[in-house]
Amino acid sequence: MQLADRARGISPSPTLSIDAKAKAMQAQGIKIINFSAGEPDFDTPEHIKKAAVEALAAGFTKYTPVPGINELREAVVATLKKNRSLDYDPSQVVISVGAKHALYNAMQVLLNPGDEVLLCHPYWVSYYEQVKLAGAVPRVLETSEATGFKITPEQLAAAVTPRTRVLLLNSPSNPAGSVYTREELAALAEVILAKNLLVISDEIYSALVYDGREHVSIASLGPEIKERTILIDGVSKTYAMTGWRIGWAVAPRPVAKAMADLQSHSTSNPTSIAQKAAVAALTGTQEPVEEMRREFERRRDRLLAGLQALPDVTCLKPEGAFYLFPNVSGLFGRRYGEKVLANSTDVAEVLLQEAQVAVVPGIAFGADAYLRFSYATSREQIEEGIERIGRFVEQLT
Ligand code: PMP
Ligand code: GLU
Repeated sequence: MQLADRARGISPSPTLSIDAKAKAMQAQGIKIINFSAGEPDFDTPEHIKKAAVEALAAGFTKYTPVPGINELREAVVATLKKNRSLDYDPSQVVISVGAKHALYNAMQVLLNPGDEVLLCHPYWVSYYEQVKLAGAVPRVLETSEATGFKITPEQLAAAVTPRTRVLLLNSPSNPAGSVYTREELAALAEVILAKNLLVISDEIYSALVYDGREHVSIASLGPEIKERTILIDGVSKTYAMTGWRIGWAVAPRPVAKAMADLQSHSTSNPTSIAQKAAVAALTGTQEPVEEMRREFERRRDRLLAGLQALPDVTCLKPEGAFYLFPNVSGLFGRRYGEKVLANSTDVAEVLLQEAQVAVVPGIAFGADAYLRFSYATSREQIEEGIERIGRFVEQLT
């Protein structure tokens, strides 16, 4: 069967496929410790589920406006005002089928073939593919542990070409967990304005920052940069609502309108009752969010200590999100049985097969020296995982 070039060029999401593989092994009775997908293990808080049940019982089961119900768009605006001191009109909010869909819509309406999008290494898997799907060209800004996996304004300025259109910023970041400070964002904003770029600011992990840090949205740094920002967020990570598929973009009016028009020919509105649940999430008590955040912070500390104790493995302390990104290149060249571990894919594969621990190889994020561990899993799993990895490393020759 002849497929379109566009389809032939797609690499399936490695985060989702490794998670599916781990779950399939689990279904066969193999006890897997799953550090792969970035999905909170908590259940969606009760009051949120109740809102969906009530909406269902009330017959709220029809098409809604394409960009979402007013109540939800207003709740997004109120949340941005409260948490990030941002002023938007509800007409600037487009509710989509998850933040991933919001990102997809944004790229489709902003990019022409040949346009360049700057991604910050290590980048989340879907950015790269979505840029390609829009016919545009992903360009990667390299970072290192030395800068806490953050780009610098000088680096950004030097990377811009006449074709560069968008910088994709993700703070707190997946996979490295880096969080940009207000000053760092202000310096980047200056370059974005000077070079006439747009910024897609993926703030899906905004509620998950640690050690007393604050999340700052680049859009909140002034009216000019706000006019150049497409802000992406959603309920998946903050409220443990990955399966509900509600995310959004908040954008300058013409961009929001184009995204809604595009969506009107693909998914139409996101699920009606999931939108009602999202309203309850945003307008109801935020206590569960803080409880989950604190628990994630404790898990981060425990898994970090476990990984840092491994010989030949180093790991930076992440500042947000729920991932650890240890450097395992010190294990490259060593053997497990007959198998030589040459790269992150080898390490992840052998870990899964021999120690039944699922992680994502760093190469999926453009950083082959690393593995990504999601600590959105229980503390028992974390303890067991640390033990298994310890034994695995001991057995390397
Ligand atoms: N952005 C980042 C950085 C993510 O890690 C995810 C995780 N799925 C998403 C966006 C998309 O989230 P969702 O589609 O579940 O809202
Ligand atoms: N964003 C999560 C992750 O990186 C969920 C999987 C996905 O959507 O790719 O693991």
